Amino acid sequence: MIIPASLKKGAFWWIRRDLRIEDNVALYHALQAERDIIPLFIFDTHILDRLDDPEDRRVNFIHDALKKLKADLEQHGSTLLILHGDPVAIFQELDPKSVYTNHDYEPYGTERDTKIKAIVETNGGKFHSYKDIVIFERNEVLKDDGQPYTVFTPYSRKWKALLKPEHCKSYSITDLSRLKRMPPDEMPELSTIGFREVDYTFPPRTIRQQIIREYSDKRDFPAVEGTSKLSVHLRFGTVSIRRLVSVALKSNETWLNELIWREFYHMILYHFPQASQKAFKPAYDRIIWNNNPDEFKSWCEGRTGYPMVDAAMRELNATGFMHNRSRMIAASFLTKHLLIDWRWGEAYFAKKLLDFDLAANNGGWQWAAGSGCDAAPYFRVFNPELQAAKFDPAQSYIRHWIPELGTPSYPSPIVNHQTARDRAIRTYQEALQPE
Ligand SMILES: Cc1cc2nc3c(=O)[nH]c(=O)nc-3n(C[C@H](O)[C@H](O)[C@H](O)COP(=O)(O)OP(=O)(O)OC[C@H]3O[C@@H](n4cnc5c(N)ncnc54)[C@H](O)[C@@H]3O)c2cc1C
Repeated sequence: MIIPASLKKGAFWWIRRDLRIEDNVALYHALQAERDIIPLFIFDTHILDRLDDPEDRRVNFIHDALKKLKADLEQHGSTLLILHGDPVAIFQELDPKSVYTNHDYEPYGTERDTKIKAIVETNGGKFHSYKDIVIFERNEVLKDDGQPYTVFTPYSRKWKALLKPEHCKSYSITDLSRLKRMPPDEMPELSTIGFREVDYTFPPRTIRQQIIREYSDKRDFPAVEGTSKLSVHLRFGTVSIRRLVSVALKSNETWLNELIWREFYHMILYHFPQASQKAFKPAYDRIIWNNNPDEFKSWCEGRTGYPMVDAAMRELNATGFMHNRSRMIAASFLTKHLLIDWRWGEAYFAKKLLDFDLAANNGGWQWAAGSGCDAAPYFRVFNPELQAAKFDPAQSYIRHWIPELGTPSYPSPIVNHQTARDRAIRTYQEALQPE
């Protein structure tokens, strides 16, 4: 990669999962301390090379968000420098005077940032990284004895007790004149980084107050617009968590609890990194999974013959989103009815979810499989038909995603509910017997 000499030794605002100007902690600090700050985004080949679908919607989402960010910066006489490659090599080349960025907590991000910090500092530069995407980091909400919580309710109680107004204070960005004045840079096409555009409308980044007010009553019904659909914006930082928590505090505690679940799972993955590969409760690694590839394929394609499960999977395949109630039902069905290893389902969701988040996805899957911290007890096996009757009583969700329901082209159930339930409980019991 050829880096223009004018950019070397500069001060950089390095944007990653915080694709916004407003209330951005790293940008705020850069503007306080530096002049001629260069906004930078890197399409990281280590991340992109692992995505096998050239029509990956997440890359499209980022590309759209960057276009908007770049246009906003250009209105202020600056631009956004967008590079493609290995960030370590790029920073070696840039040899920055300083870097301002927000913490990335995922294992790869942490490792990469440690290397880059070392390179920058060895060359005499400064690497500044800030808390931005959470209210409380992994070590800020701990039990009185300093140990991490493994149960959500006491964690959330402590989280709320520790919350002070300054945690939600917005980092107000009013003057961008300290950004480097540059002519508009070229916006790389998706094809130049190996991806294609998809025709898709992403959930808006608007915080819909009415949905949040009515959340407690409506959140469990997949056919209803009853949840915020902000997960993809939280994932890529196109909204600020401080803003959302401020809204939640005024409007709805149930919704606030969901935002706290997000931080709970981040905290869990940090303190128990083995959970990304193994059962949080080790005994659950003794389960002998059935792992039938044909049944897995039917589940992925939404052709299990259980309409609520199939509607969920089709929603995911078509949109990259799946309602939380549907995620619980689909994940329970895979791990209990089909006795397929939760890691298979977790990997499929990771590939498809727009809002894919390592910690939340792992937490959700281990919850469904019963193996997670604070998980559903293993003998509670969701009955997909009863779930449908309760949460989609008019079959609006099911009929939307399965137009062929009731015709010969819709498959019969691939397993019998009662037989599958009994087999799941038996298999779990055998695995969990004391050795
Ligand atoms: C098997 C399974 C896998 C999941 N995988 C992911 C994932 O990869 N990424 C992800 O963001 N969420 C995941 N979730 C949690 C949840 O389903 C989604 O966050 C939610 O459906 C997103 O929709 P929303 O933005 O309308 O959420 P809302 O209901 O409006 O909630 C607001 C925000 O709170 C957070 N949140 C809500 N529920 C949870 C939860 N249970 N755990 C952690 N955070 C939560 C999300 O950031 C969400 O955007 C998973 C749940 C399950 C059961």
